[in-house]
Amino acid sequence: MAQAAKRTDFLHTQVRAMARRGAIPHAVILSGSGDREDAARFLAAAALCRSESDKPCLQCPACRKVLGGIHPDVRFVRDTEHRELPMDLVRSLRQDVYIRPNEEERKVYVFPDCEQLNERDQNVLLKVVEEGPPYAVFVFCTATAAALLPTVRSRCVEWKLRGDEVSPADELSDTLCRLFARRELLPAAEFLVEQENRHVKRERLELLLENAWQICAAALLSAGKDAPSVPDTDAAALLRRNLSPATLQKLADRLRYYAAQCRYNVGVGHILGALCADWDALLHEGGKRRKDCSSL
Ligand SMILES: [Zn+2]
Repeated sequence: MAQAAKRTDFLHTQVRAMARRGAIPHAVILSGSGDREDAARFLAAAALCRSESDKPCLQCPACRKVLGGIHPDVRFVRDTEHRELPMDLVRSLRQDVYIRPNEEERKVYVFPDCEQLNERDQNVLLKVVEEGPPYAVFVFCTATAAALLPTVRSRCVEWKLRGDEVSPADELSDTLCRLFARRELLPAAEFLVEQENRHVKRERLELLLENAWQICAAALLSAGKDAPSVPDTDAAALLRRNLSPATLQKLADRLRYYAAQCRYNVGVGHILGALCADWDALLHEGGKRRKDCSSL
């Protein structure tokens, strides 16, 4: 299942680093055995995200629409009725691409199954990829890049997804979020102290906190009344059930903040201690509000 929290380090690092530099390639092949559609959505969110810093933020209107599959500037090009895409569909794309984006600066075309693109289609697309407007981004999803013509491949950046691998940081993030969902200080505090005792590296901690932030973001997204339904992990479901949206939002903000701190020269021990103190404060706020509510 598509799970925000279980995206590989690879995708995180590559997409976020490129988005940070404003350098998302205009043509990408997502190959390999991972969840390619999920990766394509993540990439599309990064291309369209309105956040000033971390893209995709997974919280702005653009990200929410992309993840919910309802963004007018992201088009998944497929035909479930036929083995190959109908010629008219590919031809119509050639015109569609010159219509400016509706809401964002960019427009993303995702081909979730490149096996559906025959040679003729690929040659039509090649022209669009080569000569299309600068705002257009093309994402080709395929188990193997060999499904695409060498001429198309040579115009694209290829990212290989590593399948179901879950990095230790992903597992740790999942554990940390489950501990936060218990709404107690001690379990999460012990976990954070343990990381310090293990001398976790700053890069490792950044990934751990960033993944935990994404789990919170996934929980928040699915908690909103009008939010599009997005896949979430069990940890996200637990957070959503046990924490108020306000607490969840603050926790997400803190995790994001401390993940960013890891990029600067802030000590790991300091970050872990500060996060622990913030969690204590958040629990107190939550407790106070619950008491206030019960006395009404
Ligand atoms: Zn965003």
